[in-house]
Amino acid sequence: RLTVDALSRAFGGRQVVADVSLSIEAGEVMCLLGPSGCGKSTTLRMIAGVERPDQGQIRIDGVPVFGAGPTLPPEARGVGLMFQDFALFPHLTVAGNVAFGLKGDSAAKTRRVGELLEKVNLCGFAQKHPHELSGGEQQRVALARALAPRPRVMLMDEPFSGLDNRLRDGVRDATLALLKEEGAAVLLVTHEPDEAMRMADEIALMRAGEIVQRGAPYNIYNAPVDRAAAAFFSDIN
Ligand code: ATP
Ligand code: MG
Repeated sequence: RLTVDALSRAFGGRQVVADVSLSIEAGEVMCLLGPSGCGKSTTLRMIAGVERPDQGQIRIDGVPVFGAGPTLPPEARGVGLMFQDFALFPHLTVAGNVAFGLKGDSAAKTRRVGELLEKVNLCGFAQKHPHELSGGEQQRVALARALAPRPRVMLMDEPFSGLDNRLRDGVRDATLALLKEEGAAVLLVTHEPDEAMRMADEIALMRAGEIVQRGAPYNIYNAPVDRAAAAFFSDIN
């Protein structure tokens, strides 16, 4: 379970994230939805532990991300990360990428890597390198790599925006199915309302650093909080 309480961050005197609170249960997908520059990625980076908040508290299963002592790397805190550019390790094979965050004996690692490659439908790709893969295949490797250590919290920043339009809906559905199967608490950042409508259990609508509305996708779609929110949703078909 992820809980975020009154998170704030300013850059150069400008408030980029203002008093953001949210909580996500295991198995639940929350989409942080809002226009470019509203503070989505900054929020996600703070939750990931790579950007320090000015104020506020982030807890994963009750444990503060910024507590006393050094901040552990994300995978050691039970956090999986997936970004727009996938950020695969170019010198590692597909199997090496997926195994990267895994601990323990090599038989268990090999089993987990095989299980995930099967789930993302890349069984024949284990020994290939990232540059030999299509964008959709790279996306699936990045997903498998992030999920391999069984994160309790999965943080995804525009994970489909690099993909071809024709592929995107299918990849979204497959990704959602796997996320549900693995059962992490998922925070997915997007500026595309149709993506949030398709994937979210709950949408948090963000504008100028603040969450202005939250709720189930169809409730937000049917009863937007104001004109700007209605306009933002209006280009969904
Ligand atoms: P997009 O949809 O375009 O990715 P976003 O909602 O993810 O936008 P952020 O990346 O969180 O937006 O940025 C929010 C604002 O904070 C922007 O105006 C950005 O320029 C500013 N900002 C982000 N990081 C920094 C930084 N390290 N230093 C200064 N300003 C920053
Ligand atoms: Mg962003």
